[in-house]
Amino acid sequence: MLKKDMVLVPGPTPVVDSVYEALGQETMNHTDPRFAAIYKDAIEKTREMFKTDGEVFVIGGSGTVAMEMAIVNTVAAGEKILVISHGYFGDRFIKLAEAFGIEAEVLQADWGKHVDVHELDEKLAKETYKAVTITHADTSTGVAADLDLLVPAIKKHGALVILDGVCATAAIQEDMSKTYGDSDAKIDVVITGCQKAIGVPPGLAIAAFNKTALLAREQLGRVPAYYSDIYNWLPIMDDPKKYFATPPVNLIYAYNQGMKLVLEEGLEARYNRHTAFGKGIRAALETYGMKALANEEAAAPTLSCILYPEGMDDAAFRAALAEKGLIVAGALAHLQGKAFRIGHMGNTTEHMLEEALLLIGEAMNELGFSTEPSKAVKVFRKHLTGKSLSH
Ligand SMILES: *Cc1c(COP(=O)(O)O)cnc(C)c1O
Repeated sequence: MLKKDMVLVPGPTPVVDSVYEALGQETMNHTDPRFAAIYKDAIEKTREMFKTDGEVFVIGGSGTVAMEMAIVNTVAAGEKILVISHGYFGDRFIKLAEAFGIEAEVLQADWGKHVDVHELDEKLAKETYKAVTITHADTSTGVAADLDLLVPAIKKHGALVILDGVCATAAIQEDMSKTYGDSDAKIDVVITGCQKAIGVPPGLAIAAFNKTALLAREQLGRVPAYYSDIYNWLPIMDDPKKYFATPPVNLIYAYNQGMKLVLEEGLEARYNRHTAFGKGIRAALETYGMKALANEEAAAPTLSCILYPEGMDDAAFRAALAEKGLIVAGALAHLQGKAFRIGHMGNTTEHMLEEALLLIGEAMNELGFSTEPSKAVKVFRKHLTGKSLSH
């Protein structure tokens, strides 16, 4: 496999050889019992990760399709949702709601900070919302939502909790059997894509609905969707030999292998590794005079939005890195040019991150800043748990 660049963007993330090998297997007929067995296996692994009492869906489409599934199968036109926004991807739920005649209100955090839970409580007390959406890790700001605070506050008022896990699933805990706070508050829907912390090439939309969310679907009767209607997919998830729309056969092979790696590493170990990576990268970059946009207590384990030191030219910096084979992402919206985003999730290894730190230091030195790359790597290593990922 030809791998030219180290792509450390907030998705797609590095793909390991065994996933590419799975992807490259011969394309079977989608109703072949041998393929159905692989598909079923992938669905079961997904269920094991989310631990839901309901149903999981693994279908062709990007994360945005899964976001649409979450909304259209739980909320009717004319009903209201509340969007908890920690950045750009929270706001996508507003557009989605608008497309289906659903009213959306927003509780907006200052970029880099958490929303105020008291403000959330007040909003929920005043108005009835069918569902509240939370972006688990917002890919624009590098802020992770605090589920321990948010989930009980929402469930107290009876709304459904819809969690966008696109930059979090398989890296930050999303256990749907877990109760939050001192109540029996649980997450009702989690949606994700396969190309971020799961480490599979893009193209699968993944969703999990618990029993409460499935009941909400039942009460809707007809929904204004066809491909995104979970009722069209339920028979396929139960028996993948049945046909609704042709699944991306090769991607399912790859996803099944990706999920095997996730479960072999162990969910707990994987969560800890990501926490260590996040803390380590941010601390190391601070030695270069760079600061994360998010406060450390709000910062995501999966990606960081890093503010440049005074006088840095965004385009020159990222071009210098690309020249060295390291791809990082620019910042979005009003942060464009003032920050960059680096992904440290999925099957990214500590070796890759050390290499990235060295290259970033070198690039900065070339651009007239003064850094000590070996010192930054030392700071990074201090945060590691000692368990490394090997493939
Ligand atoms: C990437 C991302 C999405 C969108 O996923 P696509 O696969 O690009 O459709 C949604 N939410 C979050 C948090 C993301 O990081």
